[in-house]
Amino acid sequence: MSENSIPYKIYLNEHEMPIQWYNVRADMKHKPAPLLNPGTLQPMTEEELSGVFCSELAKQELDETTPYIDIPEEILKFYKMYRPSPLVRAYCLEEKLQTPAKIYYKFEGNNTSGSHKLNSAIAQAYYAKKQGLKGVTTETGAGQWGTALSMACSYFDLDCKVYMVKVSYEQKPFRREVMRTYGASVTPSPSETTEVGRKILAEFPGTTGSLGCAISEAVEAAVSTEGYRYVLGSVLNQVLLHQSVIGLETRAALDKYGIQPDMIIGCAGGGSNLGGLISPFMGEKLRGERDYQFIAVEPASCPSLTRGKYAYDFCDTGKVCPLAKMYTLGSGFIPSANHAGGLRYHGMSSVLSQLYDDGLMEARAVEQTAVFEAAEQFARIEGILPAPESSHAIRVAIDEALKCKESGEAKTIVFGLTGTGYFDMIAYEKFHNGDMSDYIPTDQELEPGFASLPNVE
Ligand SMILES: *Cc1c(COP(=O)(O)O)cnc(C)c1O
Repeated sequence: MSENSIPYKIYLNEHEMPIQWYNVRADMKHKPAPLLNPGTLQPMTEEELSGVFCSELAKQELDETTPYIDIPEEILKFYKMYRPSPLVRAYCLEEKLQTPAKIYYKFEGNNTSGSHKLNSAIAQAYYAKKQGLKGVTTETGAGQWGTALSMACSYFDLDCKVYMVKVSYEQKPFRREVMRTYGASVTPSPSETTEVGRKILAEFPGTTGSLGCAISEAVEAAVSTEGYRYVLGSVLNQVLLHQSVIGLETRAALDKYGIQPDMIIGCAGGGSNLGGLISPFMGEKLRGERDYQFIAVEPASCPSLTRGKYAYDFCDTGKVCPLAKMYTLGSGFIPSANHAGGLRYHGMSSVLSQLYDDGLMEARAVEQTAVFEAAEQFARIEGILPAPESSHAIRVAIDEALKCKESGEAKTIVFGLTGTGYFDMIAYEKFHNGDMSDYIPTDQELEPGFASLPNVE
């Protein structure tokens, strides 16, 4: 079914859902740089990766030639509970902005976990179950990924151990309880339960943790427990592959109405929702069939694409993971404590990094008060209370629609609305109380992060 020669063809089932994921790497001339073994600095083999990840996922991670990969029946069955997700025309927003632009958003917040992360969580849990594993470990920052994975594991009756960044564990007790409702065990990170956690605690007593640190703990727990593997909710090639379901559905829905977008916008933390949303469209651009403007939106306080270096880096603080070549601020980078809007990972997906480096995608950095202004405006006009992460994309979609108003161009804008913000009301509260500031790191403040980069060409 997956002939490279057809321009594009999305196969849908009777529920109007794609039955294959699309692997954009197959159409990339410059492939993303391989993951390196941190010890030997040689590309990671499937066998090495299979010690950490489920075997099928290790295979997907390394597959840069197969354009379409069948979505297993069991995963399609789960997707059916909340997919296809709505592609909505933002009529009210267009009217309010008095723009000639047409604005569409793909809404991924229609499931209990509240974000797109469930699309990959269910795939990863499925492959773990199929391999006969007992359980999986992972990290979670704000908690969306942990929640999504808990739901997926409970569906397949797998054990789920979540290391949750301590500051979120304390500030977001409700997320924690949702995870426990789905049967996950949740440990605040750094913890005394792992060697790397104890080491970090000894070095930085009182630390409230970071994503990079929770990743190290989750990986250690996986490789040291029989029948467990580690799973990750963003950044990796396999996650972008699973998230391509977002872009495929968007493409299919637009096709149905004969709509051709000009511009596709998404927020970028590790790059999974944006990568998934743009993949099929990027494929068309890579194959020279059609052109699009793609815009990645990141926080000005954690600007990995707009101010980072394109270099090999550690994916985690404890330096236990393979090295990835990406736009990065360095694994030693820690965003300002005032930063409330998510998207705080120091690096970016290798696929998106390569596409950005090749000039196929743009990036913008936005300040958080402007993001929350857009969030509030969107909530009032379109009715949905957006996640702070998603609101980065809303900000730029509104900015672009306003530019169209000036120029009189009726562009068609599509953006990814990745989730809802019900668990982010502390951040909204800060905004409403005027306690939120726009911290932008100086070049000098970025230096220590860059100094933490390994010396690998
Ligand atoms: C995790 C998350 C993001 C950012 O992750 P990506 O991998 O960059 O997509 C964006 N929005 C929401 C709602 C999230 O939960």
